Amino acid sequence: MLTINNYVRPKTIEEAHDYAVKPKSVILGGMLWLKMMNREVDYAIDLSDLNLDQIEVKDDEIHIGAMVNLRDLEVNPLLNEYTHGAIKEAMRHIVGVQFRNLATIGGSLFGRFGFSDVLTIFMAMDAYVELYPTGIVPIREFANMKMSKDILVRVIVKKTPLHIVYLSQRNSETDFPVLTCAVSHFNNEYYCIIGARPLKAIDFIDENHCFEEGINEDSINNFVNYVIPQLVVGSNLRGSSEYRKKIAKVLIKRAFLQLKKEEA
Ligand SMILES: Cc1cc2nc3c(=O)[nH]c(=O)nc-3n(C[C@H](O)[C@H](O)[C@H](O)COP(=O)(O)OP(=O)(O)OC[C@H]3O[C@@H](n4cnc5c(N)ncnc54)[C@H](O)[C@@H]3O)c2cc1C
Repeated sequence: MLTINNYVRPKTIEEAHDYAVKPKSVILGGMLWLKMMNREVDYAIDLSDLNLDQIEVKDDEIHIGAMVNLRDLEVNPLLNEYTHGAIKEAMRHIVGVQFRNLATIGGSLFGRFGFSDVLTIFMAMDAYVELYPTGIVPIREFANMKMSKDILVRVIVKKTPLHIVYLSQRNSETDFPVLTCAVSHFNNEYYCIIGARPLKAIDFIDENHCFEEGINEDSINNFVNYVIPQLVVGSNLRGSSEYRKKIAKVLIKRAFLQLKKEEA
């Protein structure tokens, strides 16, 4: 059971951080993960008064506050237009609508969970996390940072023109994914993110220029042959490492074929 001794609703991010650095304190997102924990907390810090539940356009960036929920991401017209529906595809399999109405982007990213659809899709974009007090960090770098007492304030997505495709494999609808795969093309670079390995998501860039001549059967096979030997996957009750490797090949191929259609 989660036992909370003091519930606080700070009015500023500085005040929130003053609480966050105290021993046995915890930031609250939607509490869907936290509520399952068996721990005692001295200060439970609710960010609801910090106006972080908005998705806003700021010049050539989209700012997503940490308290924006997964359902808001799923149905947001701006994000869906920008990602050609990939954001919806990444969110829509996560449990159910009522659950997604509560789970926040802050709680979903900060944990860097080894099953995360959310981390996978944002790593395939030109996206950054604003951490307080550390500052703004590229999300692919954040994925590998150690846990800290930072507060994730918002996600910043640069509106860099991009094409992106998101796919996942699940044993049954609404279950945790067996594997996630997002591929994207922006700034003349091809990215491939594999998540739910069941380790946290990892990124591959087309360093060998497999796609220099465009996306076709040969270039996809070359890229798959480059990724698969380096891809570390594990086993759990949802699938063995051998199965995940096979699924990875299939998802990468399907995703690039879909990306080709998008770019046509
Ligand atoms: C049964 C179940 C099934 C799930 N299935 C999936 C799935 O298929 N795919 C998927 O991607 N995810 C899945 N999730 C994860 C889920 O989508 C949420 O990501 C998760 O519950 C955390 O979101 P939350 O807002 O509830 O965070 P909380 O539970 O409130 O917090 C989670 C952690 O993040 C910290 N935190 C929260 N907000 C911040 C912040 N702004 N700054 C710093 N730290 C913060 C908290 O202190 C805590 O350590 C599942 C979760 C559950 C419980």
